[in-house]
Amino acid sequence: MKQYDPKSLKAEEFIHDGEIRETLAYAEANKNNVELIDSILEKARPKKTETGYRCEGLTHREASVLLACEIPEKIEEIYKIAEEIKLAFYGNRIVIFAPLYLSNYCVNGCVYCPYHLKNKEIPRKKLTQEEVRAEVIALQDMGHKRLAIEAGEHPTENPIEYIIECINTIYSVHHKNGDIRRVNVNIAATTVENYRKLKDAGIGTYILFQETYHKESYLALHPTGPKHDYDYHTEAMDRAMEGGIDDVGLGVLFGLELYKYEFAGLLMHAEHLEAVHGVGPHTISVPRLKRASDIDPDQFDNGIDDDTFAKITACIRLAVPYTGIIISTRESEAVRTRLLHLGVSQVSGGSRTSVGGYAGYANDERPHDTEQFDVSDQRSLDEVVHWLMENGHIPSFCTACYREGRTGDRFMSLCKSGQILNCCHPNALMTLSEYLEDYASPATRAKGYEVVARELDRIPKEKVRKIAEENIEAIRASNRRDFRF
Ligand code: SAM
Repeated sequence: MKQYDPKSLKAEEFIHDGEIRETLAYAEANKNNVELIDSILEKARPKKTETGYRCEGLTHREASVLLACEIPEKIEEIYKIAEEIKLAFYGNRIVIFAPLYLSNYCVNGCVYCPYHLKNKEIPRKKLTQEEVRAEVIALQDMGHKRLAIEAGEHPTENPIEYIIECINTIYSVHHKNGDIRRVNVNIAATTVENYRKLKDAGIGTYILFQETYHKESYLALHPTGPKHDYDYHTEAMDRAMEGGIDDVGLGVLFGLELYKYEFAGLLMHAEHLEAVHGVGPHTISVPRLKRASDIDPDQFDNGIDDDTFAKITACIRLAVPYTGIIISTRESEAVRTRLLHLGVSQVSGGSRTSVGGYAGYANDERPHDTEQFDVSDQRSLDEVVHWLMENGHIPSFCTACYREGRTGDRFMSLCKSGQILNCCHPNALMTLSEYLEDYASPATRAKGYEVVARELDRIPKEKVRKIAEENIEAIRASNRRDFRF
């Protein structure tokens, strides 16, 4: 019988089925235990310190009790605290990125993904380096600075050498005032050696969704191909960290299994990374299953409604306060608007999920043939930027942290130090100004400079504020770019 051990490097010991089941039973038994719920909420609340705020986070058991709780006032309290935590550590900034699909060749049999080997409906495509360049120019012309590259798993069509070549190409393109300053990578689980190659290529976060933490379901949902190996997949983040990558991004694909099970597993994974490597996940993504070629989401029984989805997101925010939460264009504008108040700190914008979906297509044109899944939020990046500002957020194109070596626990310390308003805030305003100057529509530009003027006043240190003001002046008056703290 395997024991639960967050420090173990064996998947079945740190994602321990027995521990998850006991957690769910404990949460169910305590879902109306107001005294316990209040004490958990109190623990989760941000506490003021001399320099800023401090947050303790929650264990997977505590957070599971909140997720199980059905008392309306307590749920409102969870939402309120989620927003307080978001504001305490991330302010009103929202980081923006776009996915770049490199190749949909795939040898796996994932039953929910249109890239699965047996899908003959979808044309297979892989970008040449010339095409990567064209995509990157199109993304730069939209205003993007941060990408997440995506690819199926195929040892001969998309080997690691191909991925590295694409990363090098992406970083080499400097079109007008544009450049891509951070490439995050979402590719299949791989070896320590390959993770080291990704690290050496200068990637930001390595993202890998677990899809489901429920082993039996995992094996059935990934019936064939290398992804079938649950242990290899689940232990990937440990190999990534061994390979030198210290920003890793977790996620589950909601809809595949029972969400309470996934939620506990996800937080146990975060606790495991913290216990073994001293640093939790940099980000958590919350994708929901979508319609796609050869995929009908109604075939899966575990779809979650918008209220449950909101509750999950807020509970993640309470449990891991220093981890970014990402929401993609799988979700509609309405859902994204709601979740932005519950702890989300990164959104994608203007996304295309097809291979070669950016270059040569106007804003309202969408190639569907190689698409990975339906995109709900089909607005342009300019519309997304405008919407964020209308809702009181600051769209940020900042990529400073990892370029200044603030990754892993160094990023977490910045988060905890209370210095974010003197660092991330001016960086957000400077990168937003670059966007406004180089890419925004007149209406977005006008709105944006109002936001910049207002938000500059919130930088506490006068010296920092002055430098930020001067840099923004330089951005407006010249082609000087890429200022950062
Ligand atoms: N091939 C890589 C892997 O195996 O992890 C990752 C790339 S895949 C392009 C990115 C993610 O898309 C997957 O991890 C999965 O969670 C998600 N995905 C697959 N099919 C989906 C669907 N029908 N709806 C929403 N998301 C989906």
